[in-house]
Amino acid sequence: MILEFSLFKPSSGQLIHGVTTKPLGSFNDEEKSFEEQKKKLPVNPVFNKQVHGDKIILINERPDQPFEADALITQQKNLPLGIKVADCQGVLIFDPKANSIAAIHSGWKSSVLNIIGKTVKKMKEVFGSDPADLLVGISPSLGPCCTQFSDPEKELPEFIRPFIKEKHVDFWSLSLQQLKEAGVSEKQIEIMRKCTRCNADQFFSYRNDDTGRMAVFISLH
Ligand SMILES: [Zn+2]
Repeated sequence: MILEFSLFKPSSGQLIHGVTTKPLGSFNDEEKSFEEQKKKLPVNPVFNKQVHGDKIILINERPDQPFEADALITQQKNLPLGIKVADCQGVLIFDPKANSIAAIHSGWKSSVLNIIGKTVKKMKEVFGSDPADLLVGISPSLGPCCTQFSDPEKELPEFIRPFIKEKHVDFWSLSLQQLKEAGVSEKQIEIMRKCTRCNADQFFSYRNDDTGRMAVFISLH
């Protein structure tokens, strides 16, 4: 099964997007079945090498080699962007006015680096996007219920403090705040709010010792 963001649906004439679920199988590129698995998607995304950083790359054509980056942006039609996630947030951005898209892999390290806010800024610089026009979707990922650190106040920078509750951290709310700070309107942000660890039948979860990955993809056409 492939989940879609309801926010993106009115634009579906221009956009193909989705988040796969566990019953569709794993999209871990370390597995031999990866090429076969990709045929189950409605598009053939560019999957980069994710490294939990904050590097954002503009792509204009399909690269020959995978490269290291956690966010991809493009304005090209039929150049689908994809990321692989288990507990990390898969963040998709669509600018219906500047006709551009982004796919972001935001694990907690990239969330601390504010890769989401930096990607919005990059879309502004490169495509002239107005953040107020952007539609943003956040995939199922580890919820505050299961994002547990042994001592989050020591392990994470001070600005994360408002999102800490005892040993748990709410990275969904952090993403929401980072997007709002970047100028995105709250009503144009859809967080699926499904915890990958709590819904083990539907999603892969690294914290459940599950090595599978879901694919999150977006394409202009
Ligand atoms: Zn949970």
